[in-house]
Amino acid sequence: MTEKLIQFPQHGLSRSAILAQMDAARTHDVQWRQGQVFSLVFDAGDEVNELAKTAYTTFFSENGLNPTAFPSLRRFETEVIAMVGSLLGGDGHTAGNMTTGGTESILMAVLAAREWGRVHKPKVRQPEMVLPSSAHPAFDKAAHYFGVKAVRVPVDSNFRADVAAMRAAINLDTVLVVGSAPSYPQGAVDPIPELAGLAQQRGILCHVDACVGGMMLPFVRRLGAPVTPFDFGVPGVTSISVDLHKYGYAAKGASVILYRNAALRRHQLFATTDWPGGIYVSPTMTGTRPGGAIAAAWAVLNFLGEEGYLRIARTVMQTATRLHDGINALDGLRVLGQPEMSVMAIASDKDNVYEIGDEMSTRGWHLDRQQFPPSLHLTVNYAHRDAADRFLLDLAQSVLAARQPSLRRSGNELAIKATRTATRLLPDRLLSRMTGRASTLFGGDEGLPQRSAAMYGMMGALPNRGDLRELVLDLLESFTTVGKSDA
Ligand SMILES: *Cc1c(COP(=O)(O)O)cnc(C)c1O
Repeated sequence: MTEKLIQFPQHGLSRSAILAQMDAARTHDVQWRQGQVFSLVFDAGDEVNELAKTAYTTFFSENGLNPTAFPSLRRFETEVIAMVGSLLGGDGHTAGNMTTGGTESILMAVLAAREWGRVHKPKVRQPEMVLPSSAHPAFDKAAHYFGVKAVRVPVDSNFRADVAAMRAAINLDTVLVVGSAPSYPQGAVDPIPELAGLAQQRGILCHVDACVGGMMLPFVRRLGAPVTPFDFGVPGVTSISVDLHKYGYAAKGASVILYRNAALRRHQLFATTDWPGGIYVSPTMTGTRPGGAIAAAWAVLNFLGEEGYLRIARTVMQTATRLHDGINALDGLRVLGQPEMSVMAIASDKDNVYEIGDEMSTRGWHLDRQQFPPSLHLTVNYAHRDAADRFLLDLAQSVLAARQPSLRRSGNELAIKATRTATRLLPDRLLSRMTGRASTLFGGDEGLPQRSAAMYGMMGALPNRGDLRELVLDLLESFTTVGKSDA
């Protein structure tokens, strides 16, 4: 069997041919402009987007790696950190950096905690962090990259961190306690004052993941809604991550990692003085840092200001409340827990919520599927301001449709049953080979799951999570496999 590879282009193509190909390539992308996508894209309207684009392209070529070469970018970054710090209860001691996203901000917080531990907790051999089960996978990524053990603790019945259980999970190797404001899966704000208090008692660090909430909760509070305290105003909070490319409505590639003071931030910085290329310093994970993302974030923060973000937050919260109440009014459906802002999850006590999700997909809505418990995820933002009524109508219809028997659904059930039977009959080795192939079952050529109800059903039928992990890694690999087999 031969493998064919797309060859490096011998001749350049014309500008128009390239742009035409790119336009054609995006026809199957999720269509977010109509407000039917509930993750991945945050849209504050054309005026903000146009400014962000102009700012981005103005600094398209500039590189934030060397702050002495571009005092402009250094100024923008410093001011962004100061502005976001002041929004989140910081003071003149607050220190931080811009990063490319929430994941990088979280990686930095965990790295800083590990390095802090090396200095301040020299007896620690294997550093650990204690975090609720709802905290973002970026913490597991950090654990994986930096050799910090992630100790996950189940959340309470309202999907908030369980303080007593977290306390019990802290030991002499723990260097960091984590809470979210809010968590991504159910939009619950963890009891940050209690978690930070625990950290303070034990003399360790406390990171608040406000990636999704940091640019929203301060404004929700100013609008008069009760918000659990989560920022530097809470004693014991030592670092906060805030994404600007989410509710900050900046260009992608913009997040902030903040520390209570420069001494804490120091543990994040990297420097080497021995390289023949010169003395090399770098504050975050990446070397070259895109100037455009830094400039666009600065521009949008200054363009909207507190008034602008407040106005947007008011609209978003009206939409979120309308959706929240409308969902709870539908037979069998409910919003999980008590979300404090515009992130929430829909569950069903009566029906298969993945089937409802598939019905919503056929009606053009893009909702992420979640597990433990099964639910559909909504991140409501400004783009959804005119979509709530349509959404609720389609959701009501989807619930009814999901209850109708259909060929497709019985197909799903058969596939799930077959997987269950197979897992009981097959020896382990055969089974993992089967699951290795299952990606084709799930997605066909596109690699993307077309029928999520079937996919989640089959995943649930797999006997152990290790097989599932291999399976999703196969999928991930297949997304960027360049060789196309002839056979
Ligand atoms: C989005 C998000 C992250 C990760 O941010 P990326 O920008 O996707 O890397 C982390 N935590 C929470 C709560 C988030 O919502």
